[in-house]
Amino acid sequence: DPRIAGISSAIRVIPDFPKPGIMFQDITTLLLDTKAFRDTIDLFVERYKDKNISVVAGIEARGFIFGPPIALAIGAKFVPMRKPKKLPGEVISEEYSLEYGKDVMEMHVGAVQAGERALIVDDLVATGGTLSAAIRLLERVGVHVVECACVIELPELKVCLKIQKVIWCPNYIYI
Ligand code: 5GP
Repeated sequence: DPRIAGISSAIRVIPDFPKPGIMFQDITTLLLDTKAFRDTIDLFVERYKDKNISVVAGIEARGFIFGPPIALAIGAKFVPMRKPKKLPGEVISEEYSLEYGKDVMEMHVGAVQAGERALIVDDLVATGGTLSAAIRLLERVGVHVVECACVIELPELKVCLKIQKVIWCPNYIYI
């Protein structure tokens, strides 16, 4: 797809952020490029519009940028998956491992119903730990996770064995 080259070149790579040795993929420059940003959303919408998805679950923080325009375009609701103590209502929580230590992801009780079909959206997948936590949280309340979709993939080997879901990125698909 000719749009993918424009999207890739609009993503800036910043070396040694947030610490030495990390090549940070900065999507804020993609948001400055109206064509590349629109193309990104369109690619997701083209894939997911006819998949009977009623929930787009966006992961804090950059899943909150890409998730809502996708949700509106495919006629789904948007549900934020947040860091602890951010959501004001009753929540369910899921702990997950980071490179160093642990983190927790939370979702509002009642935001989704058992039997709904969800798409999980984030900007980037690396180890898959963040997506796994979101999948567990949704599956615990009886939601079917159709796929996970990210703009950028830096996947580690076997990320999909761990996740056992399709992870779809504009130029890659992991099954
Ligand atoms: P994982 O859990 O797959 O190891 O890491 C994915 C999470 O880390 C995503 O929520 C993503 O936003 C964040 N992340 C890790 N590295 C980068 C990066 O280089 N750029 C951006 N934009 N996000 C990153």
